[in-house]
Amino acid sequence: MRQALPFDDDKLHEECGVFGVFGLPDAAALTALGLHALQHRGQEGAGIVSYDETARRFHSDRRKGLVGDAFSREDIIAGLKGASAIGHVRYSTAGGSLQRNVQPMFAELSSGGLALAHNGNLTNAHVLHDELVAQGAIFQSTSDTECILHLTAMARQPTLVDRLSEALRQVEGAYSLVCLAPGMLIGVRDPLGVRPLVLGKLDGAHILASETCALDIIGAQYIRDIAPGEIITIGKDGMKSYSPFPPMRKRFCIFELVYFAGASSMVEGISVYEMRRRMGGELAREAPVDADVVVPVPDSSVPAAIGYAEASGIPFEFGIIKNNYVGRTFIEPQDSIRHLGVKLKHNANRAVVRGKRVVLIDDSIVRGTTSKKIVQMMRDAGAREVHMRIASPPTMNSCFYGVDTPERSKLLAAQMPVEEMAKHIAADSLAFVSIDGLYRAVGETHRARNAPQFCDACFTGDYPTTLTDQAAGASGVQLSLLAERT
Ligand code: SF4
Repeated sequence: MRQALPFDDDKLHEECGVFGVFGLPDAAALTALGLHALQHRGQEGAGIVSYDETARRFHSDRRKGLVGDAFSREDIIAGLKGASAIGHVRYSTAGGSLQRNVQPMFAELSSGGLALAHNGNLTNAHVLHDELVAQGAIFQSTSDTECILHLTAMARQPTLVDRLSEALRQVEGAYSLVCLAPGMLIGVRDPLGVRPLVLGKLDGAHILASETCALDIIGAQYIRDIAPGEIITIGKDGMKSYSPFPPMRKRFCIFELVYFAGASSMVEGISVYEMRRRMGGELAREAPVDADVVVPVPDSSVPAAIGYAEASGIPFEFGIIKNNYVGRTFIEPQDSIRHLGVKLKHNANRAVVRGKRVVLIDDSIVRGTTSKKIVQMMRDAGAREVHMRIASPPTMNSCFYGVDTPERSKLLAAQMPVEEMAKHIAADSLAFVSIDGLYRAVGETHRARNAPQFCDACFTGDYPTTLTDQAAGASGVQLSLLAERT
C-alpha cells in the first residue's frame, strides 16, 4: 500500500482503481479486499455499490479516506447486500476531492439503475459537460465520469451495452470502467487501452480489477486482460464480449510499469517487479558511475535499484530507512508540513552511507523538491558523493489520462536541462534512462518512432488522443460553486 509513502509528495499519482465481482456471496467484502489491494492507486476516497437480486435493490456506501478506515466495520459491509458489487478507490484531480465525487457513481436510467466506477480521465469532459448542461442535464458531481452516465442515459439504443457504446463513442481520453446493472456486471477498456483492466475467476464467478494484485488478495485466478476497446458483460448466462469501437493501436500507459502499478502485479503476463528491475539494469548500462553503494529511494524504486546493482556489480544497500508508522502527512499541501514529513518518515542509514560514493536510484523526478531533500539527507549522513540515477526518462509533460501531474511549468525537467537539474538538486551527477532503454526494459527492442507501442506522452509529448478540453482552454471540469460538507 502506498498511502504513507515518504517521498510521495513529489510523485505523479494514479487517480483510481476499480474492482467488480458478479455472483458470489460476500461480494461487498470481497470488493473491500480488492480495493485494499488497489489502495496504491488512490487514497482519498473509496466506495462500493452492491446489487441485491432478491430484493432488486442497489446499496451504496462511499466515503472519503482509506479502504481500511471506510470499510473495516462489519455493519457497513453487511449493509451492502447482494452477490454482485463494484468498488472504486480514488485519488482525485479532475473535479477535486469532494465526497460527492467519490465513486461508484449511480444513476437511475430508463432501463434501471446503473453504477459506474472509472479509472482514467476524459480529455473532452469540459466540452461535453457544457453541451450536456445546454441540453438540460443536471450534474450532481464535479467529476468527468458523470458525463458517461448522462450520455448513456440519453442514448437512443435498445440495449444497455449499445447505449453505453454510443455514450463512449462520444468521449475522448482514457477509461477503464466497471459498471453494475441489475443482473449484469460490465467491464470496458478504452480503444487505446491506456489504463489496465483484468479479468479473473473465483469459484466459477468472474472478477474484474485494475490489477492482478486485487485478484491475488482474494485468491482469484487471473484469466486475461480486457482487450483495448472491448466491452464484456457478465451475467447469469455467462460472459459475452463486444468490440463496438473501430480498432486502434494500443497505447497502454508506460508509467504504470514505471511506478503506478503494484510491484506484485502482472501486466499481460509479465511481472511489474521484473520490468522495474530491468529498468534499473538498462539505467546501469546507459549511465554507469564509479560508486560504492546503490541505494533505492524507498519503496517504489527498490526493484530498479536491485537491477542497477546487479548490472553494475555495485552492492545494493538500504541507505534510507522508512518509518512505517507515520500518518498521512504528505496529503497536506503546505510545503512546511511536507518538509517536516520527509524528516518524520525517513532516516538515512548512516552506517551504510558514511564516507561512501552513493548511487541513489529513483523512478522519476517531478518537481525535484524531494530529490533535493534526499540528496541533502545522504550528505548529512556522511556520503562522500551522491549520484542520482532515474529509472525513467525526464518527465517533461503533463498527463491528461487520469494521473495527477503538475502543470508543465512546474515539472523540473521542462524547466532546465539535465546538467542544471543536477545542480538544482545538488547531486554530483544526474542521469535518466533513455526512452529506448525504458522500452527495452518492458520487452520492446526500441520505441517505434512513428507507431509507439505505449502512451509515453509525459516523456515525449506524443499524446495518443486529441486534447479537446486543452485546445478549448479548459483546465478541467469546474462545475460547482457548492461548498461540500462532509
Ligand atoms: Fe501514462 Fe504518462 Fe501517458 Fe499519462 S501521459 S497515460 S502518465 S504515459
